[in-house]
Amino acid sequence: MKTENLIGRIMHFLVHNGFSFTVSVMCLVHATLLFLMWLYGVTPLVQFNVLSVVVYVFCFLLCKSGHYMPVFASIIIEVTVYTIFSTNCIGLRCGTYCFLFSIVPIIIYFGRFLFKGKGRWFVVLMLVLNFAIFVYLYMHYTNIPPAIEVSAPGRLTLVIFSSFVMVFSTVFYNAIYIYSSEMEVTDLEKKNKQLSADAQEDVLTSLLNRRGFLPVIKRLMTDPGASHFCISFCDIDNFKRINDSHGHDAGDEVLRHITRMIKREMNGCDICRWGGEEIVILMRDYDMAVAKEKMEYLRRSVELSPTVFFNHRIFATITIGIEEYRASYIEPEEIIKVADDRMYYGKQHGKNVVVFEDHKTEEEGPSDER
Ligand code: GH3
Ligand code: MG
Ligand code: MG
Repeated sequence: MKTENLIGRIMHFLVHNGFSFTVSVMCLVHATLLFLMWLYGVTPLVQFNVLSVVVYVFCFLLCKSGHYMPVFASIIIEVTVYTIFSTNCIGLRCGTYCFLFSIVPIIIYFGRFLFKGKGRWFVVLMLVLNFAIFVYLYMHYTNIPPAIEVSAPGRLTLVIFSSFVMVFSTVFYNAIYIYSSEMEVTDLEKKNKQLSADAQEDVLTSLLNRRGFLPVIKRLMTDPGASHFCISFCDIDNFKRINDSHGHDAGDEVLRHITRMIKREMNGCDICRWGGEEIVILMRDYDMAVAKEKMEYLRRSVELSPTVFFNHRIFATITIGIEEYRASYIEPEEIIKVADDRMYYGKQHGKNVVVFEDHKTEEEGPSDER
């Protein structure tokens, strides 16, 4: 776990300091090449590498001040010129043309940040040019003897070193590309969650969520002219079993189907997805008698109308609790709680019912649920 954390932190650092890290590595590569060229007596390349180190030190300073485009251009130009010059000096067999391939991942990785829209064609052009230069070098220098002959061990060292740089670059930029994409997805998921929480609408059903719904009831409760309403609390019966037997997607479709029916039947009412498979309806200007009748009709409609999901007919029922607003209720949650308790009573007494009285009344006399 600790190692994962450490790797995560390193990757995070590299993603956010990609340019500085790249020029630092470039500087190191040229310092190493400087040493190797000095060792094998290739004076022109010793001088070139000194120049390259200076360029990358300068680039590092540019990174610190956020000037990434000149840094990007310097890397591409420096590597390309270095490859041509070194191939001209010591020939193809020293493998320095591999440096051309090592900048391909750099062009792609940084190109996607620096060039947007049609500018991305510029990235494609750079890649084509890069490959064209390689083909040119290969064709031109295959039969031309190098200006300076490097010893066999020297050639081997240079081939291994330049191949290593090429492989390292490919692996490294692919790794941070994948990591940065994952970071973007995680960020987006976080933002989406925040947006859903901020929004007043449920994404699956397009019903109001609690955040959007509760203020509507609150306004109604505080409006003396319009405080006559009923609340019903509907819960799909055995929804977990539907999910388990037909899959979560089928469960979602059942939820959408029932929601559509409720919207159709209860046109003009405020409807809220209270929780997973719980829907609360605000019925303005309804008294208990009308609400009872309407909910009984809704219950029956749901019972008779299966959800069609990939040629399957999935039957579902709902249990409903209703409460009528009275002046003693202060907060919307209080009236919803009573409707919820009645719905719960219905769950315990066979489900697929409408309950509109407290079950306590049952102890005193017969209950009024269906
Ligand atoms: P009861 O008749 O007592 O209400 O039983 P139930 O299975 O409907 O109720 P329970 O509370 O045991 O399970 C509710 C299930 O609803 C569990 C949860 O996975 C599922 N659920 C919640 N939200 C969603 C959703 O958005 N889509 C799907 N497919 N399932 C959901
Ligand atoms: Mg349920
Ligand atoms: Mg439930």
